[in-house]
Amino acid sequence: MRGEGAVVWDDQGNDYIDGLASLWYCNVGHGRWEIVDFVASQMAVLENYNTFDIYTNDTVERLAAFIAAAAPMNDSRIFFTSSGTEAVETALKLARLTTTLREPDHGEETKRVAFAGRVNSYHGVAYGGLSVQGLPLNKQYFGPLLPVSYQIDAHDFSALETLFAEHGHELSAFITEPVQGAGGVFPSVDGYLQRVRQLCDEHDVLLIFDEVITGFGRLGSWFGAAYYDVVPDMITFAKACTSGYLPLGGVVVGEKVLDVIEADPNFLLRHGYTYSGHPTACAAALANCAILAEENLFARTKIIAERLGQPLHALAKSGAVAEARGIEGIWAVGLHPHQSAVEVRNKMLKQGVIARPIGTAAIAFCPPLVISEEQLDRCAEAVTNAVADLA
Ligand code: PLP
Repeated sequence: MRGEGAVVWDDQGNDYIDGLASLWYCNVGHGRWEIVDFVASQMAVLENYNTFDIYTNDTVERLAAFIAAAAPMNDSRIFFTSSGTEAVETALKLARLTTTLREPDHGEETKRVAFAGRVNSYHGVAYGGLSVQGLPLNKQYFGPLLPVSYQIDAHDFSALETLFAEHGHELSAFITEPVQGAGGVFPSVDGYLQRVRQLCDEHDVLLIFDEVITGFGRLGSWFGAAYYDVVPDMITFAKACTSGYLPLGGVVVGEKVLDVIEADPNFLLRHGYTYSGHPTACAAALANCAILAEENLFARTKIIAERLGQPLHALAKSGAVAEARGIEGIWAVGLHPHQSAVEVRNKMLKQGVIARPIGTAAIAFCPPLVISEEQLDRCAEAVTNAVADLA
């Protein structure tokens, strides 16, 4: 296989438009030599050195400063990981740590043991993220999970009010994706995230935005928090921070957490991964962010919405699919019960377009931001033809 821009080729030489940016991450497109060269130059100087104890390196410091400046929090620090899953585990542990240390007579454990989130949310595959996510099939047979985690209907304001009224005092954090991605592409409805922020403030609950998909350009800004104009207490990121050129993730840690865990200068945070702050992965992120900024790629999400989102809405209006949903650079069609997402995907592949079936009910698009107008037209045509063929 090889790739260039928004196109990948299989081992037979057939080309495909990469309508999902591989797995929601390749925002700058494939084959970017700027990243390859920068990574190679970092490796030649220092491939890696740990960032435990007193150690750090220029590249991780540069990237941390860059991400802190791009994040919506006034003051933040970055904890680096190698994946979105590790980022979520880190944020959940930091939330519990904060609520434990915050209690005046703090003992070994927080009294606020619970987490809450939304149905259809996806937060990775380790036990913390698995416990708090809202996709029940992912949890099947893996129990027992974390003891208390509430998942409420994703768009229902009254369920949100009830959750906080009944359980606000037990919650350590509320975790949510600004746009639910892997669960089927569901943007947050107007005012929902604002209301979550208010309720978290009223009940002293930390707010975590899981921006593993929405971070680094997908919603036309560095973080989806800016798109929705809500400032969370922590942001998890991964995927498009390097566009997938090397594995890297992390947590933007805001003041409400920092003020507590940094209050005692002798406190040692007993949490870290061997590859936290890996300079070669950080070099990939720096080169990737330079491309995003220099090529003004955030502006492309409006074009994706126009050339892909609008035709998908027209397809839904015609009745050929059940619905279209999405914003900026992330879209899906919801299928009718008699339609099969895998069959639609297969028909699209035959037309040279990759999209992702989600369960049985949806086909998702999340193309590289460098995708051209003509390639977007082909994505829309491929799904239109696929559902027509299967009718
Ligand atoms: N959180 C969200 C919102 C995701 O979409 C994903 C992966 O798709 C994850 C967490 C887990 O990230 P990773 O697969 O890098 O561990």
